[in-house]
Amino acid sequence: MRFRIQHLQWLGGIVAAAACVALGGLSLQTNFADHARYQRGTDQLARFQSVLVAANAISAERGPANAAMGGAEEKRSTLAAALAVKRTETDNRISEMEARFIGERGRFGDIDALQSDMRRRLDAGRRAVDEVIARPAAERSGTPIRTAIEAMFDAADASAVLRDRLGREIVAVTPQVATHILLNSLAGNLREQTGRLGSYVVMQLSADPEQRRQLEVQVVSTRARLELMWRALASYAGAVLPDIGVDEAITAVERDYFATALPYAEGVARDSWLGTAPDADTFTRAYVPGMRPVELLRDRIAAASRATMEALRHQALLLVLASLLLTGVAIVAIVVIALIFRDGLFHPLLNAHRQIVQIARGDLSDPPPIRNISAEVRTMFASLDLLREQQRQRLQLEEDQRLMSETLRHLSETDMLTGLLNRRALTEAAERALYESDRHGAPVSAILFDIDHFKAINDGHGHAVGDLVLKTIAHDLRAVAGAEVAFARHGGEEVLLMLPDTPKGAALALAERLRRAIEAMNINTVPGLRVTSSFGVASRSAGAMMSWEELVATADRRLYRAKQEGRNRVCDSDEKPAAPRAVASEATWYPQAAKAAR
Ligand code: GH3
Ligand code: MG
Ligand code: MG
Repeated sequence: MRFRIQHLQWLGGIVAAAACVALGGLSLQTNFADHARYQRGTDQLARFQSVLVAANAISAERGPANAAMGGAEEKRSTLAAALAVKRTETDNRISEMEARFIGERGRFGDIDALQSDMRRRLDAGRRAVDEVIARPAAERSGTPIRTAIEAMFDAADASAVLRDRLGREIVAVTPQVATHILLNSLAGNLREQTGRLGSYVVMQLSADPEQRRQLEVQVVSTRARLELMWRALASYAGAVLPDIGVDEAITAVERDYFATALPYAEGVARDSWLGTAPDADTFTRAYVPGMRPVELLRDRIAAASRATMEALRHQALLLVLASLLLTGVAIVAIVVIALIFRDGLFHPLLNAHRQIVQIARGDLSDPPPIRNISAEVRTMFASLDLLREQQRQRLQLEEDQRLMSETLRHLSETDMLTGLLNRRALTEAAERALYESDRHGAPVSAILFDIDHFKAINDGHGHAVGDLVLKTIAHDLRAVAGAEVAFARHGGEEVLLMLPDTPKGAALALAERLRRAIEAMNINTVPGLRVTSSFGVASRSAGAMMSWEELVATADRRLYRAKQEGRNRVCDSDEKPAAPRAVASEATWYPQAAKAAR
């Protein structure tokens, strides 16, 4: 049972750890996927912005192109050189853009096609521009310029298609930056439209009246588009992208473009009717600086988009790390708790169980000390120590009681002076023996003896010597009689023996041996003191109806007879005389008695 709980605890720990791993894994996977998505979004955004930069370069190339086409004849080579510089710059931006797509080819198939379409249209636009520039000054006006500029518009449109295609890609992967992408596109378009408006004015400068009227319509509609785009951009960019100088850029656009460059362009357009307008180069140089804040705004929006994407990516990375860390912490906590349960609870419980079993079996030895346990568990072991100590005390008490009752029993059965049984204890032993004899049909005998002239010993040698005589007889006769014979002090200096399983003849022989032993006895402290005893023997043969009291009375009667017949002899019959004593006369033996009698 105890193992099962421990196993369940381990199982629970493993299940909890597995759940943690699964949960952590899910979270990790989600956050990792997010991180990968934002990483991809960051890469895409960099490509998107390289397209914006390239598109801007294509738009910006129109300025020098327009100037070169419509500029004064004497500045022709200077303007052509400026255009060449600008074209190199555009080519560099386009190369940079294309470099960002290396390795991505085939991932979104149509992008390759869009890039080469953009390149193709740009080449076509440049060819048209070069064609105009190559013409004599008189032929460089009207339709050819317009055609060339529109061809360059075409290239810009192609770059916008590419830009929007990438923008959609980014929004699909990371919708969180959809607004940023829209604002980026809007800023790109605003830049493009401001350029176009300038280009329409340049076209007007060299157009015939019919074309000029058509271009005027283009200027008005472009301006309307600009206003619309501007309203959207100015109201949302500040709200969506705070704290990156967007407001400042918006103010600059209002001031430098809408309040300065735009009215100037419209003025030049009006002047083109009067023939007082500046040439394309002069106009371009005055108009283009007004577009710079638009580019600034677009750059700031782009920077904000990058920052947002970077923040998202960073956040996902933090979540990845947090998932790893929390999962790790949870697993470590589970393992630590499991170990605490094992070492702090289950092992001590098993240990306590062992100790309880030991105590129950009576093994009260101190167990080895236990280290590193909690206060609660320490209390449990302290209780076990207490229990052990109580058991020890209880056992000690029982042992003391046993010894005491043993002593009491011994005292209650024993005569203090001689160490023999007392009369009551012998009576009990005799009754048991009689019962056994009745069951087995065995004889029982009794021997009663009395020390002769004991009074005289007391009187002659003192009471202490009398006591010593009694003790010596009690001690020495036991060895003579054997272990089965029960001795008792019958009273005074009379000793009663109970002989189980002993017929009369054997009892008589034993009495005789005892008589001789007393006769031959030496009392250490009184050299020469001779002691004799008179014996009465009675037996109960198997099956005879005779009580112990009757048996003792018979022995007593025969003892009395032995005394009467001269002492120091054994009498075993009421009829025949007692066996005469073997040695010296009574007077020889008991001079004290003779003296006392006088
Ligand atoms: P006999 O039996 O030979 O007829 O003579 P006796 O002198 O022994 O006579 P009796 O049996 O009547 O006297 C017993 C004496 O034993 C009386 C008493 O003073 C003495 N006696 C009894 N108990 C003790 C005892 O415990 N110690 C001593 N020293 N003397 C005892
Ligand atoms: Mg007596
Ligand atoms: Mg006597």
